[in-house]
Amino acid sequence: MLDRPDIVAVMVGVAVEGPYSYRVPHGMSVERGSIVSVPLGPRLVLGVVWGAPKDSFAHNRLRDIALAYDVPPLSDELMRLVDWVARYTITPPGQVLRGVLRSPEALDAPKPTTAFRRTGVVPDKMTSARDRVLEILADEMAWPKPALIGAAGVSASVVEGLEKAGVVERIELAAAPIVQIPNPDAAPSTLSPEQQSALNQILETGAHNFGVALLDGVTGGGKTEVFFEAVADTLRAGRQAVILLPEIALTNTFIDRFTRRFGTRPAEWHSDLTPAQRAKIWRGVLDGTVRAVVGARSALFLPFRELGLLVLDEEHDGAYKQSEGFTYHARDMAIVRAQFAKARVILSSATPSVESRNNANQGRYAHVRLTSRFAEAAMPNITALDMRTDGPEKGEWIAPTLAREIFAALDRGEQALLFLNRRGYAPLTLCRSCGHQYKCPDCSAWMVEHRFRGVIMCHHCGHEMKTPKVCGECGDTESLTAVGPGIERVAEEVAVRFPDARRVLLSTDMGSHTQLRDRFSEVARGEFDLIIGTQLVSKGHHFEKLSVVGVLDADLGLAHGDPRASEKTFQILTQVAGRAGRASQHGKAFLQTYHPDHPVMKAMVSGDREAFYASELHAREAGGMPPFGRLAALIVSSGEQALAMAHARMLLTSAPMAEGVRLFGPADAPVSMIRGRHRVRLLAQSGRDFDLSGYVRFWLASAEKAKGDLRVQIDIDPVSFM
Ligand code: ADP
Ligand code: ZN
Repeated sequence: MLDRPDIVAVMVGVAVEGPYSYRVPHGMSVERGSIVSVPLGPRLVLGVVWGAPKDSFAHNRLRDIALAYDVPPLSDELMRLVDWVARYTITPPGQVLRGVLRSPEALDAPKPTTAFRRTGVVPDKMTSARDRVLEILADEMAWPKPALIGAAGVSASVVEGLEKAGVVERIELAAAPIVQIPNPDAAPSTLSPEQQSALNQILETGAHNFGVALLDGVTGGGKTEVFFEAVADTLRAGRQAVILLPEIALTNTFIDRFTRRFGTRPAEWHSDLTPAQRAKIWRGVLDGTVRAVVGARSALFLPFRELGLLVLDEEHDGAYKQSEGFTYHARDMAIVRAQFAKARVILSSATPSVESRNNANQGRYAHVRLTSRFAEAAMPNITALDMRTDGPEKGEWIAPTLAREIFAALDRGEQALLFLNRRGYAPLTLCRSCGHQYKCPDCSAWMVEHRFRGVIMCHHCGHEMKTPKVCGECGDTESLTAVGPGIERVAEEVAVRFPDARRVLLSTDMGSHTQLRDRFSEVARGEFDLIIGTQLVSKGHHFEKLSVVGVLDADLGLAHGDPRASEKTFQILTQVAGRAGRASQHGKAFLQTYHPDHPVMKAMVSGDREAFYASELHAREAGGMPPFGRLAALIVSSGEQALAMAHARMLLTSAPMAEGVRLFGPADAPVSMIRGRHRVRLLAQSGRDFDLSGYVRFWLASAEKAKGDLRVQIDIDPVSFM
């Protein structure tokens, strides 16, 4: 309990550096973790009792806690996570806490539902509408008002009239839970011997202990089946489980699989929830009525009190890095939370991150493998198509060999997928007369043509304009040309070459998450023959009839000076190729490339992923890059390039000396302007055993603060280098 229970420290959910002291009014009782409302300046804000106050204050100078909510306190492990994340990412702890207190509505008592039932009194006047209502209520059950009105097809006034006449009575029912409790024994799978031994290896860490397993298995090997059994084990042990997915992979197919396995839908947590749904799930997680959550990155910060398992599906995915607001990596923070909560972690992937592979190699994680596909399915056969000799005809994007294979697949009644990681119609619009290239006025980026919508737009800031007909520079007409392909342009070629195929275009431009989920379900049901998609289609989908995959530009990811370019390319190519032949013997994938001799392409074609990891780990070690070294990026931005550069130079000169730390920059960032702000980068590199986050914290605390429109964004363990 707290030392001086009448004064406590409260962390408020605003960007402040630490908790403030408040007085607990007479008659109120709080403990560490209690969620409260406190006055801050003129307003009331949400906060959490953090513990005993650091300083002693004169009683009369303190303000009172206004309200203690009638909900269970946050768990100690979650509060430790907040402190840890704040410290490591150099973010005010109140701002991290705000990420936890995501649903203020959840704190109010759940509203009961108004329902009606018969009293036994016989109405003196009957109408057909009244008759329908009483018929429905004949079995003496109470019906919630909206359901009753809907089922009887009457207006509310009919029911109210019956109430006035004493024929029906109003009762209050407790609100229905948002989800049912999942049943760990509803429909367990019979695991193959390899899957069973993988599960056993994971369960070696007991349900109440900390341990990390890297579930490293080929696409279609049954990783999902295996981690579902680990979820079941956790539920049986009376603990809660969370499965994190890269946001866009939150498909109906996955939810349906969970539902079949556990006999009920999981609680979902993602950006498309309504505030009411959000509130019910958040509160259910806190009061323990929600036992399993399937969610995006931010589900990591849900207020579980009995967390026993965190699964990260597709653990290598870049979507786990949050890069707006405060930057954190959900994979790393999941492991921190599991440590505090004494919980298990499963990192699942067919293409683990180089970091996780290294941790498994070093014995820090259990390395759990699935080496073969389930049942009859075999790994796809991968071929590189050399663009210099076997490339497409001029003006086309699909090589003849690939086109033949697509025809053959369609003839067999199977599906084909064309993958190009570029939204829109063309990445560049160029004037053939004067050479003018359309660029975003606010970003250092070309305007990408989106022909279906008739606009050109910037993919960094969303700025768009109607596609020009006349060159904005020289005024020439009919001189503007689209350069290079985006998926809309590929779709145009596909429509001409495969006119009879049922085609679908899948990218984030093609609708809301909900609409996209529906499209994915249709593809899975076989309602389309030819799928043209961006990165979106590479993640976790299981399309049974898909047998041919064509990657139109396998080199796309290798171009820029990103230290993770090889890894990212290897992962995305493996994932995309892995969509082929998930349920059959003859999956084929084709990689159109100008660099068939690149180590990534060679590893893909030979299927020798171990060779890829070995060479990549070797290169990282030689360069002192993660996971053998640490990186931290500082991005200084301002409306004026000179201001940003001057501030970055000043930061560099005030950097403390420390052995083993190397500083690079300042230099213009690869994307040197976004939304009108010029960006200058500094990069700090250190050995693995050095506290680089602590170094940056100390550095910034001692340096002159950024003023005016200057901003310094800190990215510990950066994943993107733009
Ligand atoms: P991964 O997650 O490794 O890509 P999945 O778990 O999606 O693999 O499994 C691929 C396919 O094989 C799915 O359709 C799945 O239902 C099926 N499958 C895998 N293991 C089993 C099993 N033990 N029993 C029944 N079906 C299985
Ligand atoms: Zn822009």
